[in-house]
Amino acid sequence: MRPLIAGNWKMHGSLAEASALASGVAAGSVKDAELLVCPPFPYLIPVKEALGGAVALGAQDCHAAPKGAHTGDVSAPMLADLGATYVILGHSERRADHGETDEVVLRKAEAALKAGLVPVVCVGESEAQRVSGEAEGVVAAQLAGSLPQGFAEAGGVVAYEPVWAIGTGRTPTEEDIAAMHARIRAELVHCFGAAGEGLRILYGGSVKPGNAKAILALPHVDGALVGGASLVAADFLGIASAA
Ligand code: 13P
Repeated sequence: MRPLIAGNWKMHGSLAEASALASGVAAGSVKDAELLVCPPFPYLIPVKEALGGAVALGAQDCHAAPKGAHTGDVSAPMLADLGATYVILGHSERRADHGETDEVVLRKAEAALKAGLVPVVCVGESEAQRVSGEAEGVVAAQLAGSLPQGFAEAGGVVAYEPVWAIGTGRTPTEEDIAAMHARIRAELVHCFGAAGEGLRILYGGSVKPGNAKAILALPHVDGALVGGASLVAADFLGIASAA
């Protein structure tokens, strides 16, 4: 499976910085991985122009409705219309900042599929859940509650992001990452049969050029969802070249 290295730019950067970062990523030559960048909504069009086609474009969220009276929201068809092909859904920051539940994520993922976007559904446990031994059960429940029908046919992506590893410089042990990814694979096969074998499972949470090779070599780790290190083109490309 060709790894996917995705950059989640979150709410960072100016217009000039976003364009420069996109140009820097597009200038890299990475053969062995698919690259994806997910800028903030206002920068999608200039970033798309700067990327020039070699790198995929994604958004960080969409609404569950295709259109309507939803002030401040952006629909999946709008994202597809301007050239996005992926959308991150259910990131833990959206779950925390906007109270998104698995049910909300499910509806958004259905909307994404309908618009022809590939959903990147994020799951992951809190530190307390990890310490109390609930991590795998929490993630399995998130998957059961948020993956729509048609997810496998569309090549949907799951991103495992332990909440306590995001932006902290801490990562689970390689054994823990491998165990969780094996569990996610089993859940995908349970939900989607053999098609679940071919879906990409990304790891996210403090991925850096220095730890990428070891993480990306683990079984059932089919790429990375990168936050902080995706804001520096050389670091993002360094992670991609470790794939
Ligand atoms: P960091 O790479 O900054 O830990 O963020 C991970 C993340 O949340 C990507 O979606």
